[in-house]
Formats: sequence, C-alpha cells, structure tokens
Amino acid sequence: MSRTKPQVDGDVLELVATGRATTRAAIARTLNLAPSTISGVVSRLLEAGVIQEGGESESTGGRPGSILLPAHNHHRTLVAELGAHHARIGLADQGGTVANICRYDLDIADGPQKIIRELFNRGDELAMQTGTTLAGIGIALPGPVDTSSGTVVGPSRMPGWNGCDVPAIVGEFSELPTLVENDAQIGARGEYAYRLHSSQSDALFQDFIYIKAGSAIGAALVQNGNVYRGARGIAGDITHVRVESGGHRPCQCGNTGCLDTVASAEAIRKDLAALGFPFGSNDELIAAALDGNPEVVTMIRSAGVTLGEAIARNISFLAPEALVVGGTLSAVDAFVAGVRQSLHERCLHVIMERIVIENSLSGMDAALWGLADAICTTANSHISTLGA
Ligand SMILES: [Zn+2]
Repeated sequence: MSRTKPQVDGDVLELVATGRATTRAAIARTLNLAPSTISGVVSRLLEAGVIQEGGESESTGGRPGSILLPAHNHHRTLVAELGAHHARIGLADQGGTVANICRYDLDIADGPQKIIRELFNRGDELAMQTGTTLAGIGIALPGPVDTSSGTVVGPSRMPGWNGCDVPAIVGEFSELPTLVENDAQIGARGEYAYRLHSSQSDALFQDFIYIKAGSAIGAALVQNGNVYRGARGIAGDITHVRVESGGHRPCQCGNTGCLDTVASAEAIRKDLAALGFPFGSNDELIAAALDGNPEVVTMIRSAGVTLGEAIARNISFLAPEALVVGGTLSAVDAFVAGVRQSLHERCLHVIMERIVIENSLSGMDAALWGLADAICTTANSHISTLGA
C-alpha cells in the first residue's frame, strides 16, 4: 500500500525521534523505500528545521552517513508570564511540555523596553544553562492584548504599556518569532492543555470559565475547548466590572467601584494596611493566609464573595460546566469558598447543582502551558502541511 507524503514524513520523524534509524540509508531500509525518496524527505525536514544533522555514523563498510537528530532536542521556545511584581519563565519543547521553570522579581511599571531586555537576558541564560537554543518566544501579559497585533490595550496595572506594540519591541532585540497573549486567556488554554495531557484528563471540561486572580483579576471563557476571544481579542477583562462593595473607590481606569478596587491582591493588601496589617508582597499576604491569620483570611474570603458577585451574571447566562479558579489568590481555600458561597446566593439551583467550582490544576504555570500549547500547535500544523 503506498503512503502519502505526510505519512512518510511522520514515519521518518518517528524513526529519527526514537533513534530506531538515524541515517538516510537505515531509514530507507527500515521503511523499505527507495534511498532517493528518503533523501528528498530528509532534505525537506532539514529545511523546515524539524530535524538536524549530527556527526557522521560509524562506517559499517559502506560510505558513512550523517546522523539525523530531532531538532527539538535542542530547540526551545522561551515562554514567559510577566506579572506586576515578578516573572515566571520556562523552556517549552516542540511537544508542548514546559520545563526549567524559574521566577524572578520585576516591576512591570519599569516599562516595556527594560522589561523585555531583562526577559531576553534571562532567557539566554536559561538556554545556556540547559545547552539549548531559543527558537521562539511566547509572552503572557497582565492586561488586555489585541491578539491581531500583539498590542496592549488599556491595561489597568501596567503604567507605560498602553498601546505598546510588544512584537515590535521584541524585534529590537531579536528576530525570533513572537507570540503575545493576555495572561488569563492563555492561562485558560494552558489549563485545558494541562488537563488534556495529564493523567487527570477525567477532569477535562469543554466549556468553562477560567479566572486568574492575582494582583489584578482576569477571566476567560473556554467553549468546546477553544478560548473565546471577543472583539479585538480582549474578551474576559472583568476587572472593571462595577461591584456594590466597590462604592466610590477610584479605579485606575477612571471609573469608580470596579472589582479591581476590592478583590485584587493589590486591593486586599491596601485594605489590610489601612487596618494596621501591612504586607510587603503578595507572597507575604498568601503566606499569612495559609498560616491562618484571621484578618487576612476574612479579607480574602470577602474578596472571593465580591468576585462571585461580579461573575454571577456570566455564570447564569452561559451555564458553563465549571468555574476554574487560578492565580495567586486561588492558593487560599477561603477565596474559592467565598466565590462558591456568593454564586450559590445569586444563581439558580438548577445551574449550581451541576457546576464544578475548583482550583486550577496547572496552578501558577497555567499561562506557560498555554503559550507552549499555542506555539506547539502552530509548529505541528506547519509540519503537517509540509508534505501536502
Ligand atoms: Zn476600573
């Protein structure tokens, strides 16, 4: 039975990746195909950067051939989530798996130039430590991103970033292909991908709302396994929904009483400081909550109740299978309990008896998994069209 080009490409890739046949001659023998056919396939895969040539094979009598290796042995995508006060970065392989995750402090208010330069320095360092080469970069940002252009649109906690064309700034440092996303939207994709690939795939939801509750609060809707983008790609930015307990508190967006002014980690720290309980960072805040500090736990639970108030209408309207809560605040059970209590008070029983409300499984790495999945899907679609 004759095989199509993509099938032969796939067979060759598999032999090279598993090491079962790593020279043109061995591949031709194993697949029982003409050496000229295999030579053509290998040239195409080399040109596409999917495989690479290593040293020479040991001669077994005939002319030694080049050893072929999968290119993703050393090519990695730098995936990075930039927050208000720190970054998480890691390296993703072409299978969409993220490794070598580390974190460093930053101040997002330092502006795009300085933040992106630092990111490249850290990425280069990580690649050097792991003996890998960067082949692309994915960045998740804590504000709305117009995904058609990678431009930041009206962020509330990113001074100096409004209207910033992030791929253009990356272009000043490197020619690597770049993907720029909003942290909550790509976090939702990451949560889906993580559940799909993990042994916990029985907990895979096709329709769910993902919340990222950290310094600011973002959300995303996943429909049939795909993130709903909305106009300009900025759907889900619930941080400026007005809530009762927000009263007349001024918000950075110019309005008053936004969810951000009450339920974000920044707002919680501000309120606690006013009560005489200052916390220097979100990490300190979460540590105090996990330690059982009653003032902190009460304040975080109350923030969860307010978040429930802000999304109750979305839950009633969309009736999703699940609400998955991620971000820094989700580490505190009282936060998720507050959301649950609030939704039970506001939504119909018929919705609440079915909906699953739980913590994110991908945790703090959600956005990194999402970026890796997005980049890996793009790369694989490129491979599958090679032989078409
Ligand atoms: Zn606002």
